[in-house]
Amino acid sequence: MNRVRVLVFNAALGALDYRVPDGMAVEPGSVVLAPLGPRRITGVVWDEDVLPGAPVPDAKLRPLAELLPVPPLRPALRRLIEWTADYYCAPMSAVARMVLASGGALKGPATMTEYRLSGGLPERMTPQRDLALAALEGEQATIRELAGIAGVSEGVLRGLVNQGALEPVEVDIDRPYPQARADFAEPVLSAEQREVADELVAAVEARDFAPILLDGVTGSGKTETYFEPLAAALRSERQILVLLPEIALTENFLRRFEERFGAAPIVWHSSLKSTERRRAWRAIASGEAQVVVGARSALFLPYANLGLIVVDEAHEISFKQDDGVRYNARDVAVMRGHFEQVPVVLASATPALESLQMAESGVYRKLDLPSRFGGAELPAIDLIDLTEEKPERGRWLAPRLAHELFARLERGEQSLLFLNRRGYAPLTLCRNCGFRFQCPNCSAWLVEHRFSQRLACHHCGHETEPPATCPECGEPDCLVACGPGVERIADEVAEIMPDARVAVVTSDTLGSPERAAEFVEMAESGAIDVIVGTQLVTKGFHFPELTLVGVVDADLGLEGGDLRAAERTYQQVAQVAGRAGRGSKPGEVLIQTRHPDAPVIAALAAGDRDAFYEAETEARRHAGAPPFGRWAAIIVSSEDEAEARDAARAIGGTAPRLEDIAVLGPAPAPLALLRGRYRYRLLINARRSARVQDAIRAWLAPLDLPRGVRVSVDIDPYSFV
Ligand code: ADP
Ligand code: ZN
Repeated sequence: MNRVRVLVFNAALGALDYRVPDGMAVEPGSVVLAPLGPRRITGVVWDEDVLPGAPVPDAKLRPLAELLPVPPLRPALRRLIEWTADYYCAPMSAVARMVLASGGALKGPATMTEYRLSGGLPERMTPQRDLALAALEGEQATIRELAGIAGVSEGVLRGLVNQGALEPVEVDIDRPYPQARADFAEPVLSAEQREVADELVAAVEARDFAPILLDGVTGSGKTETYFEPLAAALRSERQILVLLPEIALTENFLRRFEERFGAAPIVWHSSLKSTERRRAWRAIASGEAQVVVGARSALFLPYANLGLIVVDEAHEISFKQDDGVRYNARDVAVMRGHFEQVPVVLASATPALESLQMAESGVYRKLDLPSRFGGAELPAIDLIDLTEEKPERGRWLAPRLAHELFARLERGEQSLLFLNRRGYAPLTLCRNCGFRFQCPNCSAWLVEHRFSQRLACHHCGHETEPPATCPECGEPDCLVACGPGVERIADEVAEIMPDARVAVVTSDTLGSPERAAEFVEMAESGAIDVIVGTQLVTKGFHFPELTLVGVVDADLGLEGGDLRAAERTYQQVAQVAGRAGRGSKPGEVLIQTRHPDAPVIAALAAGDRDAFYEAETEARRHAGAPPFGRWAAIIVSSEDEAEARDAARAIGGTAPRLEDIAVLGPAPAPLALLRGRYRYRLLINARRSARVQDAIRAWLAPLDLPRGVRVSVDIDPYSFV
């Protein structure tokens, strides 16, 4: 009897046993379709000794329906899936789903049908059809993607296909990618870079696991340096994965990569078209793909033959996924390197305390690039104490900062103002009655966006038009904006310097790679004088004419729901400061603050990174916070407030009483209502040695909660909202 255990893609079921029909050759890792009730469900054949299955008698076993035409998932990847599920308390099937991230890739035929405008018109025109025809000019994609682009239903588009206005095009999905060449344009490295590069190359050639922290100041040429081990992996025909924190900001990287290696890498991110996804996925699984650059989801792809992993800007919190499987791609990358037996390079100018600690304790190797490339100096940093140097009434920039902006404009240099707040104002209220605009789905204020004339919730995406009258008291034209967002700062700059060309850079204005490329081009050609931006502009950009950075409100990050607020503030300000003076002209950074004596602000002003890390290390050690202790969070939510509260209490009531684990809460989450669900939180603080995940599993498993209650576990949480 030929039976196999299959991890089926259904979180509630886990593993099931099946019979292998004659003539079907499966092995652990094979991707299959298995019958489940009347349906067929995707699954992966798993090693029987690791996955407990349901004891089904031989006679009752159903046969597998189909073996899918993709290479089996390799043992290293199966171990990674097991580890990730275990560590993050997530269902294994949810993790495995991230591996099989392209449904299209699992099918046999190598062509797909896309549609484009035929030039013909439908017999009958409707407003929807009209809309679609206008929006789809020049587009070619699947019906579903076109529906997304045009903002109409798929039904409308099928109608257009039937009427001949849209025509099908067969596309060859799996055409090969252009080849990157290791020796296409080799740079001349500085002595300092050479030394580090040689060590990294040696690590690649050793073909062994090696976690390495590449700690280099902003502008030291970390990218040029890690391109060398990348070239070494290319030469030995092994695959390379480069993880970047924000895919919208990869333009700069792509260009440099192409200059160095003569061809673009494969880009992986969530908004790829399904055909591009399939093509990339299959090339990765077959080993044809050489270099993959992606956001965190690229980490779980089925590389055939990995030789190196690089995590660039490894300290960034966007590597932490906060829904679905809540994992940290930086940490999982290290585990992947461990299972694959390859080096993992974590590159940063402001490493996470956790990573530094690993280096200190000898687990990670640390390589340093202490100076900027080409003799550029790090910028001079100065504080503006807002309690003394006050901005004028209704303004947010202190006179000294305004003066320096003006001086840059006169000299034809660029400035960057950093404020981590999208929109015009974080709060809008009625001048007459004090009514505050709040999101109906979340406990959050609506943020005014003047460009798009909307009040928007930054948590759930709810939007409304600003009303002409107050919904509470009916007073007309009564809305006042409270506090600044980037749009308001841009207005202020325009008032101070009417001739300046100002660009607002946020995820609203730079949502796509194309728009990011446009912005970079404008900034480089000198068509922008002042950039006003959120955390999106803090990293990656290299504008040699940029000589002034102003931090509008350095205290902002210290408020709010971030468990590592001081570290985050330090990293953001140090990174944005690192955009100044990267060319031949020296840079200057002005930091506005109301708390010049706060340790993190003082360390920034003194340019004393070590002082900051030492103080923060002591604070964390004292609090038993990571990396000295461990955190985990449990979030309990329901659409019904009482149900959420009762469930949270029930969970709190059965909290384990263990010496090395403390449970705090339940308490209403800071965001007590999110997307229409009421939320309660418990925070777990444990000793490093504690088996937190086991304790949580044992704690939650026996609970019998109402169906409307959702419980999610967040291991090593970052955000406390
Ligand atoms: P980091 O990522 O460390 O902030 P970058 O990799 O962006 O620094 O390098 C800063 C600038 O210096 C970039 O424009 C880069 O192209 C340039 N650069 C760095 N090293 C070299 C080199 N060896 N040869 C030529 N240009 C270099
Ligand atoms: Zn909302």
